[in-house]
Amino acid sequence: MTNNINNIPPFYEKVQNKEYLITQENPSIMQINVGSLCNIVCSHCHVDGGPHRKNNMTKETFDHIIEAFRIGNYKTIDITGGAPEMNPNFRWFIEEISNYAETIIVRTNLIILTIKGYKDIPNLYKKLKVQVVASLPYYNEKVVAKQRGKGVFPKSIQALQILNELGYGKDEELVLNLVYNPNGAYLPPKQEVLEQTYKKKLFNNFGIIFNNLFVITNNPIGRFSKFLHRENIYNDYMMKLYKAYNEDTVANAMCRFMISVGPDGTLYDCDFNMIEKLKVSSHINTVEKLAKNPLKSRKIVTGLHCYGCTAGSGSS
Ligand code: SF4
Repeated sequence: MTNNINNIPPFYEKVQNKEYLITQENPSIMQINVGSLCNIVCSHCHVDGGPHRKNNMTKETFDHIIEAFRIGNYKTIDITGGAPEMNPNFRWFIEEISNYAETIIVRTNLIILTIKGYKDIPNLYKKLKVQVVASLPYYNEKVVAKQRGKGVFPKSIQALQILNELGYGKDEELVLNLVYNPNGAYLPPKQEVLEQTYKKKLFNNFGIIFNNLFVITNNPIGRFSKFLHRENIYNDYMMKLYKAYNEDTVANAMCRFMISVGPDGTLYDCDFNMIEKLKVSSHINTVEKLAKNPLKSRKIVTGLHCYGCTAGSGSS
């Protein structure tokens, strides 16, 4: 096998079952990225989030989303950022979309829930039965400090304890899932094994309970790509992903079942494609248009970064 990334075949050629390169007819999940504004700066962040970012989604775009969600008969809204809680329209939006969505997922960095001005949000999550997906790159302070900055780990633990006190992770309707991603250019360990370790360590050390651990492969785009190039290991990492390609994971790649809306309302097959500026392969390519015409099944726009979703046990 080649060790030169120029010889890696385009993703769409590698996929043997070409049906997997087409989306489902009626996607049920709408993922929205409400902007990259964030209170912390993580080394793995693929949207380059941080306090300096100014691309907050506007109220007008949120209005289009609500209409598109309603007429498209979507079931799940999956909200990401940045720290989505920092978008000024966030509270209003999740209250509004709860009239239509069966499931509301919010991806949180946890720390934001402990900061003045945002401490009301855990209660709002409880009221709306929001599924919380919380980023916790590891179960010990040293590793988390390296990836997310000093002081982040104790605040994350504090936020998890607040959520547990409200019933998250305990009450069937209050789902608390955690996300692990590697702190470097290597593939993550097996989800089931790491989940058991997380559960044991977090309960024994801090009394924390959660539902599931999602193990994510770092996608070689955004800030992580810059890190790989700076360290001169981009090619090695890309080869690692390519060699670990697993055709069985493609059927479940998230792009097959959802539409992703960027902060300015542009539509993508996933938020990795958003970073790569690869719009959907349809003339309905903004949420404003989607609010008038539901999307038909479409060809997925792919790139080398798709090997990040299909390495090992899969991750997307
Ligand atoms: S990067 Fe996006 S388009 Fe590519 S396989 Fe993953 S989810 Fe699908």
